[in-house]
Amino acid sequence: AKDSGRNAIQLFHNSMQHAASERLRLENELRLALARGDFELYFQAQVDARTDQIIGAEALLRWVHPTLGEQSPTQFIHVLEESGLILEVGAWVLAEACRVCAQLLEERAIDKRFSLCVNISTRQFRQADFVERVEHCVRKNKLPPGMLKLEITEGIVIQDIDDTIAKMNHLRKLGVSFAMDDFGTGYSSLTYLKRLPVDVLKIDQSFVRDATSNPSDAEIIRAVLSLGLSLGLAVIAEGVEQQSQLDFLQSQGCHCYQGYLFSRPQPLAEFRTLLAHSVQR
Ligand code: C2E
Ligand code: CA
Ligand code: CA
Ligand code: CA
Repeated sequence: AKDSGRNAIQLFHNSMQHAASERLRLENELRLALARGDFELYFQAQVDARTDQIIGAEALLRWVHPTLGEQSPTQFIHVLEESGLILEVGAWVLAEACRVCAQLLEERAIDKRFSLCVNISTRQFRQADFVERVEHCVRKNKLPPGMLKLEITEGIVIQDIDDTIAKMNHLRKLGVSFAMDDFGTGYSSLTYLKRLPVDVLKIDQSFVRDATSNPSDAEIIRAVLSLGLSLGLAVIAEGVEQQSQLDFLQSQGCHCYQGYLFSRPQPLAEFRTLLAHSVQR
């Protein structure tokens, strides 16, 4: 028994070592990917279900691996975060998103009412010069006010609420708006939500998934909607896959959504085709 215990410890030790070297290998590959330009942005439409108009899009990072193909950030974002590489990748995402937005506007594929949403990580937001970095991208691309929307999480807010509010207010003066991502999954307190200059709440997809079968998820959605209404915020539901989910959301007064039901995140060329075929406003 003693022996098998020792073996188990040895196995555990080996697998820890294995995990550590695996992580290092991934980190090096990601560094290479950044240098080689193997990251891409995909775009997922945000839709008003009352008209089927595309009101905006979320930019989502993809790593297009030379042999493995397209990789979702869920597979590597933690490594970017832990290694600090997220700062460089995040800067690239911001620059690329602003460039694409300006280009689509120039092509008249979208108009000024469209908003492009960009995910911001905690470390990126905490950078001392974050505001200046965003300002640079907005000015360089001459983006009209309201077109760039930053998606932040409750994790960013609770880390340092005063710094968060100060940066958000500064950015708002430059025409940048904010969405609270994954709303309801973190430690939201109503007190700070009231202090935060956010424009949009995004209902997390975990609530949407079971909204039609789980009464407590349905109740959370109702609560987020009434909170949004009372604070004058727009609400967007994410992860809408089924018509029944959309029907439920609409019955509760939530009309804006993103999800596979309307479209998956797509490369720019395909997103452009989607825009061309979508309802004209
Ligand atoms: P998120 O911000 O909550 O993004 C929504 C995720 O839901 C995306 O996963 C999207 O592809 C997926 N999704 C959209 N519609 C549906 C649906 O109908 N059903 C299901 N099951 N999923 C749907 P993705 O692209 O894999 O991204 C995962 C997470 O990685 C994002 O979650 C976000 O937290 C992070 N992320 C993505 N891009 C960036 C980025 O540029 N910067 C940073 N910091 N984080 C990013
Ligand atoms: Ca997001
Ligand atoms: Ca989300
Ligand atoms: Ca999420």
